[in-house]
Amino acid sequence: MARKSYWEQTYYPQPTEYEIRSNAAQTARKASKKGQILHPVILSGRTIAKSWWGKAWCQNLEQYADFETRLPRGQKYVRSGAVVDLQIQKGKIAARVQGTRKTPYKIEIRISPLSQQRCDEIMDRCTARVDTLENLLSGSFPESMKDVFLGDGGLFPTPKEISFSCSCPDWAVMCKHVAAALYGVGARLDEDPTLFFSLRGIDTGRFVDVVIANRVEAMLSNVNRPSSRILQDADLTELFGVV
Ligand SMILES: [Zn+2]
Repeated sequence: MARKSYWEQTYYPQPTEYEIRSNAAQTARKASKKGQILHPVILSGRTIAKSWWGKAWCQNLEQYADFETRLPRGQKYVRSGAVVDLQIQKGKIAARVQGTRKTPYKIEIRISPLSQQRCDEIMDRCTARVDTLENLLSGSFPESMKDVFLGDGGLFPTPKEISFSCSCPDWAVMCKHVAAALYGVGARLDEDPTLFFSLRGIDTGRFVDVVIANRVEAMLSNVNRPSSRILQDADLTELFGVV
């Protein structure tokens, strides 16, 4: 778990849920006047992520925290609608998170792209299970794909593969705004699990094409291998002269 520190006693004012919501509403109004399109994280209830993959992401992000108090604050923030904008791109998450002041803080999270070797290993795991790939194409991930994401060599970034920056004065590496943005990613993954691949710099369409091509190749090479049934038939032909 994240360590506790004497310096944890630094007091930053904690805004109420009402303050966050009214600041967020003001930011949305300003953006709309300027013609800016924001992608806020809006939860339908208290639950941040409902799918197993969204929940797994939220659990995984806890290991990035250098101070554990930032985690419940981040959860409170995302539930209060503080994540007024969240954009997930290839290897990058850009977010704006509302806090104490009127102007939201700017957050940038960078994730290292997968190495070619790790990408190949993940492709091999997927090639072995093409039925789950069909689910991937339809936007749902069965729980049997869990090992593609979790553990060593999975899609989830390790602490070394992720970096954070926030414009707030908190010196914690993972401040509550970064935590809120990361929880927001968990909620967003519920809607579109293929974002997992985008985050690691992988184009999902191309990934699926290559996996399917490899699977077809493997199936064809099995077809060309003589089966015991064919050998049996050949033996019979030899024995009885049946053509
Ligand atoms: Zn911050």
